[in-house]
Amino acid sequence: MRGKIIRSLAGFYDVYCYEDGLEYRCRARGIFRKDKFRPLVGDEAEFTVTHAKDMEGSLDGIEKRKNFLVRPPVANIDQALVVFALASPDPNLFLLDRFLVRMEKAGIPAIILFNKEDLVTEEEVREYERIYRGSGCRVLTSCVRDGIGVKEVLELMRGRTTVLAGPSGVGKSSLTNILCPEAEMEVGEVSRKTERGKQTTRHAELFAIGSDTFFLDTPGFSSLFLEDLKPEEVRRYFREFREHEGQCRYEDCMHISEPDCEIKRAVEAGEISRERYENYVRMVSELREVKRY
Ligand code: GDP
Ligand code: ZN
Repeated sequence: MRGKIIRSLAGFYDVYCYEDGLEYRCRARGIFRKDKFRPLVGDEAEFTVTHAKDMEGSLDGIEKRKNFLVRPPVANIDQALVVFALASPDPNLFLLDRFLVRMEKAGIPAIILFNKEDLVTEEEVREYERIYRGSGCRVLTSCVRDGIGVKEVLELMRGRTTVLAGPSGVGKSSLTNILCPEAEMEVGEVSRKTERGKQTTRHAELFAIGSDTFFLDTPGFSSLFLEDLKPEEVRRYFREFREHEGQCRYEDCMHISEPDCEIKRAVEAGEISRERYENYVRMVSELREVKRY
């Protein structure tokens, strides 16, 4: 049978079976242990049902991975849906840009969902859309509380595996409860108090919406480190820099303090959003700071 690993527990893997839409708890066969190969949540699996009555099986093989993330440990991600609130809490764009850089590096397309549009004016919504116009990301807005914009999100998720990310309090649980009521996410204040505890004990888990659509909630979003990044590589992950490439005086221009810098010119001319550029500069200086120690 063919399926997808949706959960990994001590020594077991829960596999969603494409053929019957059911979940089977599978043991990894000896070959995995021998090869020191660890199956991941998100892996496409080949498995055999061993006890149909108890929904048990054995994992026979794993298909070649399209991509994978180390944190959280998941494979075959098609895209990331990163949720931020337009207010309450105010969006931390530096956090958002750090996330987008990580996704660019991993080669995973990101969709930005600005939620709680009911709390801001239309002008403010347009302002955020302007900032991210050149980012290469699709930008959506929503009022999840009233179910507005959720259909558009679902359209983009259909047939794909999506990582859901975003800081606490922005409406992820509310969205998850609409998309997939079985996930039973706690909404609001109460859950936030226990969130830390939940994050340490909870493992990455995929939820199925229908037979070909999966999503995964990523806990621990605020601790997004970029320490594995070199300062020189960050500029590659800002899409809006791309069309200006090769036009600076220096070929290896970092676009920070060099003279005759095309990127700085484009920022001054309003062709590249200043907010994004400033976050780029901040990221590079933070990474240089880390390197010094
Ligand atoms: P999470 O921490 O990201 O999972 O956020 P929750 O789903 O728990 O939502 C946090 C709070 O924001 C809750 O009180 C929700 O009722 C509220 N909320 C969610 N979506 C919206 C929205 O579109 N507008 C407004 N005003 N509040 C919302
Ligand atoms: Zn430059």
